Amino acid sequence: MNDTLFGRIIRREIPATIVYEDDDILGFKDIAPQAPVHVLFVPKGAVIPTLDDATPEQATLLGRLMLAAAGYARREGFARDGYRVVMNCREHAGQTVFHVHLHLLAGAPLGHFGTP
Ligand code: AMP
Repeated sequence: MNDTLFGRIIRREIPATIVYEDDDILGFKDIAPQAPVHVLFVPKGAVIPTLDDATPEQATLLGRLMLAAAGYARREGFARDGYRVVMNCREHAGQTVFHVHLHLLAGAPLGHFGTP
């Protein structure tokens, strides 16, 4: 159960800079930021390896990841300027941690999206 890198962060077995937590979701700074603000939002419960593994019963949880990111952006004051959320799925998207997570990127113009 939750035996992924992010599971270990959730259990506080390895350190991370945690910036958000509620009953279901943990938010922490990405260790290799791709923008001035780069936070990962992950579900704390049962592991969903990729978005492709998610079931209809997990729709609310996935939506709450989005709203956690949006709320964080609003509170931190960069919602007005804008931000990007990304969820990588498997090889072609470069997914490296198989515990579904939402990237929140912000803090500067982010450029064109999707260039290979
Ligand atoms: P993805 O490539 O979409 O699977 O995203 C995984 C992200 O996890 C990458 O952006 C990594 O930089 C990040 N990452 C890997 N190890 C850690 C860690 N120990 N703490 C925080 N972020 C990490």
